[in-house]
Amino acid sequence: MTIQFRTKITISSAAIVALTVLLGAVAYYNRVLLFNDITDLSAEVRRLKVFSETQLAVERAVMPANDYLITGDRKGEMENYRDIVRTADAGIAYLKEREKTPEARELLKAAGLRFALVKDAADRLFALPYPAGGRAAARMMEGMDALADDIVANYLEKYYELKKEEINEEMAAAGVRNRIDMMLGVSILASVIAAVVFTYAVVSKTTRRLKESHALLEKRVEERTAELNVMNAELKKLSITDGLTGIYNHRYFYERLEDEVKRAGRYGRRVSVIMADIDHFKRYNDTNGHQAGDEVLRGVASCIKGRIRGQDIAARYGGEEFAVVMPETGREDAAGLAERIRRAVREEPFFNRENQPGGSLTVSLGVAGFPDDAADAKGLIGKADHALYTAKETGRDRVRAAS
Ligand code: GH3
Ligand code: MG
Ligand code: MG
Repeated sequence: MTIQFRTKITISSAAIVALTVLLGAVAYYNRVLLFNDITDLSAEVRRLKVFSETQLAVERAVMPANDYLITGDRKGEMENYRDIVRTADAGIAYLKEREKTPEARELLKAAGLRFALVKDAADRLFALPYPAGGRAAARMMEGMDALADDIVANYLEKYYELKKEEINEEMAAAGVRNRIDMMLGVSILASVIAAVVFTYAVVSKTTRRLKESHALLEKRVEERTAELNVMNAELKKLSITDGLTGIYNHRYFYERLEDEVKRAGRYGRRVSVIMADIDHFKRYNDTNGHQAGDEVLRGVASCIKGRIRGQDIAARYGGEEFAVVMPETGREDAAGLAERIRRAVREEPFFNRENQPGGSLTVSLGVAGFPDDAADAKGLIGKADHALYTAKETGRDRVRAAS
C-alpha cells in the first residue's frame, strides 16, 4: 500500500516537472518565432567596422596622387593608392552585398559610382609629369578632393545615419529579447523549483501522517492487547475459581495435584493432600436454610485459606467438601495444619451453630502424603478420602492421617 502510494506521488511529481519543462519549451519556441527576423548583432558590428575602414579609405584615396605631385615618388605613391582603392572597393562591395534596405543600397551604389570618378581623377593625376605646375593640375586636384568629400558627406555619412538608426532599433529589440529570455528562464526555473518543493512537501507531509497514523494504530493495538491480556487473565481466573467461595475449583485442584505429584516424583520430594467435609451439614441446611448453609461454606473456605501457606492450594472439592494441596510437605506436617483448620472452624461463630450436634459447626479431615501413602494423584486422593471416612467413623470433628 505504501509502495503504491509512493509510486503515485512520484508519477504525479514527474508529470508536473515534465509539464513545466514542456511549457518552457513552448514559450521558448514562441519567443524564437517572435524574434526570428532580427539580424545578428555581431554581424552588424562587423559591417560597421567594414564601413569605417571603407570611409577612411575613400577619404585617403585622394592623398597618394596629391603626394606624388609634391614628392615626385610615382612608384611608391601608386602602390599606396592601389592598397587604399582595394580596401575601399572591397568595402563598398561587401556592404552592398549584405544590404537589405533599398535606400541604403542606393546610397552605396551611388558612392561606388562616384568613387569610380575619384579613381579616374587620380589616374589622370598620376599620368601628369613631375613636377606639374599650372592651374590645370591644381583644378584637377581640387575636383578630386571635392568628389571624395561629396562621397563621404552626402553618401557614406547618410548611409551611416540610416544604419545607426536601424542598429539602435535592433539593439533596443535585443534588450527586450534578453529581458524576455531572462524572465522566461527565471520563471521556468521557479516553476521547476516550485514543483520540486511542492512534491517534497506533499511527500513529507503524507509520510509524516502515515507514520503518525501507524504509530496511533500500533498504540491502539498495544492497548487492545493489554486489555485482552487482562481479560484473558480474568477468564483464566474465572475458569479455575469456585463461584461460591472464591477459592480454586475441583478441576484446578486436580490439575495442580497431578503436577505437584509428578514434580515431587521427579525430584524425590514430598507432597500432601488434606480432604475436609463439613459435619452434619444436611442437618444445618435443614435447620437454617440453604442461604445460611452457603454462608457456612464461604466461612469454612476462609478458615482454610487463613491457615495455609503461600505455596499451598485450597479448593472446593465438591458440595461441602474441601481439599488442600501442600507441596514440599510430609504427612505429619500436613496433619498439623489440618488440626489448625479443624480448630479454627470449630471456633468460628457460625450462625446457629449451637443447634449442631456437639454444640458447634465442625469439619472432619483426612490427610495422605506422597510418596508414603500412594504413587499418584488419584491414589493420594483415595487415601485422603479414606482417612476422612475414618475421621467421620470415629466421631467427626477430628483429623485422621492415612496409615
Ligand atoms: P456427614 O457428617 O456424614 O458428612 O453428614 P452430612 O449431612 O454432611 O452428609 P451428606 O454428605 O449426606 O450431606 C451433604 C449435604 O451438603 C447435602 C446438601 O444439602 C449439602 N450441600 C451440598 N452442596 C451444598 C451447597 O452448595 N450449598 C448448601 N447450602 N448446601 C449444600
Ligand atoms: Mg459430603
Ligand atoms: Mg458432610
